[in-house]
Amino acid sequence: MALTAIDNFINNEFVKPTEGAYFDTFNPAHGVPHAQIPDSTKADVDLAYKAASTAFTTWSKTTKAERARILYKIADLIDARQDEFVRAESKDQGKPISLAKTVDIPRAAYNFRFFAGRILHSVEEAAELEGVGFNYSQRMPIGVAGLISPWNLPLYLLTWKIAPCIACGNTAICKPSEFTSLTAYMLCSVLKDAGLPAGVVNMVFGTGMKAGQALVEHPRIPLISFTGGTVTGAKIIANSAPHFKKLSLELGGKNANIIFADCDFEKALTTSLRSSFANQGEICLCGSRIFVERPIYEKFLNGLVDGAKKLKVGDPSAHDTNLGALVSKEHWEKVKSYIDLGVKEGGKIECGGDKPASLQDEFQNGYFLEPTIISGLTPSCRVMREEIFGPVVTIYAFDTEEEVIQITNDSEYGLSCSLWTENGRRARRVAGEIQAGTVWVNTWMARDLRMPFGGMKKSGLGREGGEHSLDFYTELKTICLAD
Ligand code: NAD
Repeated sequence: MALTAIDNFINNEFVKPTEGAYFDTFNPAHGVPHAQIPDSTKADVDLAYKAASTAFTTWSKTTKAERARILYKIADLIDARQDEFVRAESKDQGKPISLAKTVDIPRAAYNFRFFAGRILHSVEEAAELEGVGFNYSQRMPIGVAGLISPWNLPLYLLTWKIAPCIACGNTAICKPSEFTSLTAYMLCSVLKDAGLPAGVVNMVFGTGMKAGQALVEHPRIPLISFTGGTVTGAKIIANSAPHFKKLSLELGGKNANIIFADCDFEKALTTSLRSSFANQGEICLCGSRIFVERPIYEKFLNGLVDGAKKLKVGDPSAHDTNLGALVSKEHWEKVKSYIDLGVKEGGKIECGGDKPASLQDEFQNGYFLEPTIISGLTPSCRVMREEIFGPVVTIYAFDTEEEVIQITNDSEYGLSCSLWTENGRRARRVAGEIQAGTVWVNTWMARDLRMPFGGMKKSGLGREGGEHSLDFYTELKTICLAD
């Protein structure tokens, strides 16, 4: 099968990497190479910087109405090519096509629509300083932004950065994940067809160590928006420190899913199956630590195990597939090693634990893993503390509200948490105590893009969403006019 060849996108042109080197990425469902990605270096980032900084001089002066018009057009063109994007995202990442169709690609289009509207409706502060003058605040675009994204929701998360970045008048150099570059590459043509001027968005493909790090260390790129692992986030802080860059870091999580005995049992169970195993558990917001109040622990565990056993694992392109393949062989091995560790730490595998036995021949080399539920571990075990980022959850019985708040917060992460109870006062009380950037009560993954999003502790720095994205992608200044 011919490999899809990808090139960098600089100044609205597709260009080969300066050193001419490429590497293969794999189709996760088949375990075979399917695309060739430029192995870009600092020289490519420098070329992209030249294009982006030239474009900044005019794009930053374009009216908001004109920027919004182009962003709306980008959204419309993504919609028009939705099927193509959906198929590519599923093939490249391994996710079920139904998820790409209902979540990833619609949200990518919506990111552009949302920020197109957002910039048109913002109003800044103004205040009279009596007897002295009048103050008003003004937002300035900052310059060239480095946008670095992960592999789990490739186009969804990349466009979550591009849209506010360019809506605010900045230009961008994007570095998509080396594992999933296909839809970012397809987006380049959409951007051009929508009339986005040359150099406003540039795409430099390649590895984090070369292309990503070159962006982070570039002395003239003043802001970096990064979504990815906590260990990488720490490197980005260190490598960017000499340049005092503005950073937005969306990092890892180990999210609690708290089930109180007074919950709506069926709703909690059904949603917990999704929050455990959607996208093969490769969503930073998945609830991988399930805490169930003791009176309903056995019933909930049995229901979850029954439900997990019924989930269909296999061909990502089949419309009834629930779990596709994990993104890479290395990631499969990492997730499997945590299952093995769970057993060594004294856990019991309630279901799953390995590659499904029933895979069709063509998927035998794919990176599939059964949905796995581990019981019998204590909150101090590594499997209950470290991010696994796969279809693996632990389940644990708790006795009191105080106890579950304590074990939830006893984590170096603080990204999100779900809690299930029909007692409204308890919901508000517990939600108020949880150390996480997002707390869902009786739901999961419901996102209002006007609201702040981000993590506490090692789950991130800063907030994005609505006004918070404008804060990140602009400099806010005060102008004082004397009477
Ligand atoms: P990763 O940190 O390995 O890679 C993310 C991106 O950073 C990739 O594009 C990679 O090439 C690049 N990169 C790697 N090293 C770099 C370096 N030294 N300098 C600059 N760039 C570098 O993460 P991943 O494995 O792609 O994604 C999974 C992680 O992302 C998980 O930890 C998950 O929780 C996290 N995540 C967080 C959120 C959130 O909103 N908080 C959302 C999705 C994923």
